[in-house]
Amino acid sequence: MSRTMVAGNWKMNTTPTEGKALAEGVIAAAGTPSTKVVFGVPAIQLMQVKAVTAANPGYFVAAQNMHHEDKGAYTGELSASMLADAGIDYVILGHSERREYFNEDDSLINTKVLKALAAGIKPIYCCGEKLNVREAGNHEMVVSKQIEEALFSLSRDQIKEVVIAYEPVWAIGTGVTASPQQAQDMHAHIRRMIDNQFGSEIAANVTILYGGSVKPANAEEIFGMPDVDGGLVGGASLSVENFVPIIKAR
Ligand code: 13P
Repeated sequence: MSRTMVAGNWKMNTTPTEGKALAEGVIAAAGTPSTKVVFGVPAIQLMQVKAVTAANPGYFVAAQNMHHEDKGAYTGELSASMLADAGIDYVILGHSERREYFNEDDSLINTKVLKALAAGIKPIYCCGEKLNVREAGNHEMVVSKQIEEALFSLSRDQIKEVVIAYEPVWAIGTGVTASPQQAQDMHAHIRRMIDNQFGSEIAANVTILYGGSVKPANAEEIFGMPDVDGGLVGGASLSVENFVPIIKAR
């Protein structure tokens, strides 16, 4: 199915030397993948990893963030046009760590999504609720609001380019995974929202990834749910030994 994807989010964990070796090692071990595979790499190694994936069909590179302005006096930042000129395929936007530590909200993330699309880069838009929200039973409401604010202003042509990642914050880096049914329920809810707003054809084709403690031991079961199209993987994307079985589980 063309909507499937397994993406790794290396976060701030690899040096350029380690990142190059990791991308090369994954490609050597996984071969031509039956799903899209994306490496979400630190900014300093975007071009180096792109050079590795460019010769290997099925493999792509994502930035982990970008600034929402086109250019100017924003010391330390990267723009969408820089990423596009470097040949970067995707950008992870709205990750819960960006929301938590850098105060990003869905209004800002909406601006970033639009800038990325205008530059020809595909956003991987992250949403997901915190533990207290889940415990109060408000998870669908909170995720609905995130998606509405960040994505509903897009045109039908624009939304087709967006990948959505559902990452319950309580499952990220904790070893606690959403159950396959919890993931399925939220993914089905997100797909229904896309259907209501953009129509059934777009909803049927939108890629919705699950993220939060995906490991070789649970990937197959989670990816087996009908509305889960793959994963956005943190810790387990940092070694060939863990990431390759996850790619193969999809
Ligand atoms: P873990 O797989 O380490 O829980 O991280 C998930 C994540 O945040 C991916 O973006």
